[in-house]
Amino acid sequence: MNPVFSTWQRELAEAFSSVDALCRHLQIDPQQLPLLHDYKQFPLRVPRSFVDCMGKGDINDPLLRQVLPLAAELEPQDGYGPDPVGDLAAVTETGVLHKYHGRILLIVTGGCAVHCRYCFRRDFPYGELQLSSGRVDEALAYIARHPAISEVILSGGDPLLMSDAKLRRLLDRLRGLRQVRRIRIHTRLPVVLPARVTAGLLQALSHHEIRPLVVLHANHAHELSEAVADACRRFRQHDISLLNQSVLLRGVNDDAAALMALSERLFAIGVLPYYLHSLDHAAGTGHFEVSDALGKQLIAYMQNHLPGYLVPRFVREQVGADHKLPLA
Ligand SMILES: *Cc1c(COP(=O)(O)O)cnc(C)c1O
Ligand code: SF4
Repeated sequence: MNPVFSTWQRELAEAFSSVDALCRHLQIDPQQLPLLHDYKQFPLRVPRSFVDCMGKGDINDPLLRQVLPLAAELEPQDGYGPDPVGDLAAVTETGVLHKYHGRILLIVTGGCAVHCRYCFRRDFPYGELQLSSGRVDEALAYIARHPAISEVILSGGDPLLMSDAKLRRLLDRLRGLRQVRRIRIHTRLPVVLPARVTAGLLQALSHHEIRPLVVLHANHAHELSEAVADACRRFRQHDISLLNQSVLLRGVNDDAAALMALSERLFAIGVLPYYLHSLDHAAGTGHFEVSDALGKQLIAYMQNHLPGYLVPRFVREQVGADHKLPLA
């Protein structure tokens, strides 16, 4: 192991990558599960911190379900395909996704710390389309040519897989463009591997008056352990605001109690719910689908039981639309 690896990088390198090892660790008999055996295309990947939030011996654990390759992924599903939200058509330059007015999304890396089986970018051709370091100049030139862009969203993959130094350089270059007033980071790393929230990261985010807004991705209250709560506390101590987006997923959070517990737990650790996404129809994810009708009922239930700021906006990403479409 490279001695300059930090703790989080070591934990990442040691993430579970085999279903058998994961099942053994969780005391589950893999024979009980309708597994997908050949998952090389989109390998299993899940850090130990996330696994520690799963229940032992529970094949229906809502966190396990998000990462376990199941044979159902092979079932052909009408309307499911490789580019469910029309991102490929919207890539204007390598690594730059410009779909909505005033804001662009930069695909800064293709890697993630966890592989979520429902991911809408599971088939995204990152190799060709991510923003490599050599192309940052082109992305900045693109922003400069479009003065209406005032917000830049770092996405991926997971932008926090970048080293602290590299992230800081990119942020500082964006901060140097006067038109950029807001920067956002969409990341699941603080949830699945809270050790990622290092002093160096907090420095990179907070040393300048433009502090990125961090949008986390958690789908279930069990993901938000004490270690995650602590990571969130450190962000907030550095004046970094936190939002969360989730995906509505069958067998994970498709009931009112789970969604309400998620909102309550997010608030308790200083995070506000932002979006609840209806599943994007990426090939291989049909077994996670929840009907919009049920989604609307769940939101109505939440509206009746929670303050408005704890009810996420239930939305769908529609090809060709100017913004995410509200469903409730
Ligand atoms: C979701 C998304 C955004 C951000 O949308 P908001 O509604 O501002 O959160 C921007 N660009 C792309 C391509 C997106 O998918
Ligand atoms: S962290 Fe996000 S981009 Fe990465 S696999 Fe999960 S859903 Fe997809």
